[in-house]
Amino acid sequence: MRVVTTIEEIRRLVAEAKSRGEVVGLVPTMGALHEGHISLARAARKECDLVIVSVFVNPLQFGAGEDLEAYPRDLDTDVALSADAGADIVFAPDVSEVYPTPNQTTVTVAGVSEGLCGEARPVHFQGVATVVAKLFNIVGPDKAYFGRKDAQQVAVVTRMASDLNFPVEVVGCPTVREADGVAMSSRNLYMSGEERDAAVALVTGLRAAAELVMAGERRASELESAAMKPIDAEPLAALEYAELRDADSIERISELPADGRAILAVAARLSADGKGGARLIDNYLFEMSGGEPTVDEGLLATGSGRRATS
Ligand code: AMP
Repeated sequence: MRVVTTIEEIRRLVAEAKSRGEVVGLVPTMGALHEGHISLARAARKECDLVIVSVFVNPLQFGAGEDLEAYPRDLDTDVALSADAGADIVFAPDVSEVYPTPNQTTVTVAGVSEGLCGEARPVHFQGVATVVAKLFNIVGPDKAYFGRKDAQQVAVVTRMASDLNFPVEVVGCPTVREADGVAMSSRNLYMSGEERDAAVALVTGLRAAAELVMAGERRASELESAAMKPIDAEPLAALEYAELRDADSIERISELPADGRAILAVAARLSADGKGGARLIDNYLFEMSGGEPTVDEGLLATGSGRRATS
């Protein structure tokens, strides 16, 4: 396992791998790795010859007043966990390596970036699309792995790669969950014990909605209310949204289609004292075929690697 911090060196290593005919996989992360990230590295390990985990806290995707400074950073643990997962390289450049001068170029993916998290975090997806475009140009992966926990991000990156003809396959991987069902997130570290306990409200609502879908319910209004209910009932949680959307275009839909993919996505802020806490997101993916649903609720963590909760 190698740790690489310069663009020059990562390009050289990737060029050497490609000259040997190797398939190059990239797992972009902001570090503070947990089993969600590790599952992406393992998926890449299965499908690629050279697996690169990038660790870069991207200032461009944080809005004013967001948690850029507070974001957890622990490169030594990230390197150890990446090695365990079978990665070949951790690419961990400094901000000055990635942005030697303030970027005057940004990538905006209209449509898919609008609504859901695009509403509360107006610069977020532009920052994500810009840094992912840069990482694709810097590394030149054949495949790039993203978690469906951030379903809108997968849609944004997929659309960007397609619109801008990046020769990369964007692979979406299942959400990895803690034992109680809460989606793993580096931001779970921000929560106190009681906030962490209350965070289960997000997945409780999604589970209730999935049960309705299995019983035949297709209307967005009913599924959204089922998802909202436990969050509304939880005093420590403030609901931001609970919406049914097309999984690829991220357009709002009024019911599950007979064929196609939809997400029921939720966001809430968990805070015991009205300050601090964490903004959490989660979603279930519904894959519809001939009117029949398959629900992708993600996977339970296996227990190896670092827990994301305090
Ligand atoms: P982040 O470090 O939060 O930017 O996340 C890096 C990648 O890991 C993104 O593609 C995320 O969607 C993915 N990821 C984060 N949490 C999870 C999770 N619980 N399950 C699966 N993937 C995840």
